[in-house]
Amino acid sequence: MKSLTCPLCGKNAQDKYRPFCSSRCANLDLGNWLNEDYRVSVIEDDDLDDIEDV
Ligand SMILES: [Zn+2]
Repeated sequence: MKSLTCPLCGKNAQDKYRPFCSSRCANLDLGNWLNEDYRVSVIEDDDLDDIEDV
């Protein structure tokens, strides 16, 4: 089997936390997803504001 490397820091991934090397990297990745989701909904709110102005 080929070994996976952590997509965040490049260290060897642990079976327990695949594809990450540790719970810390797994949590960081989850945080990135949540932040992106939040940013997208903020942009959508701005668009609605523009429509109300016109
Ligand atoms: Zn890592």
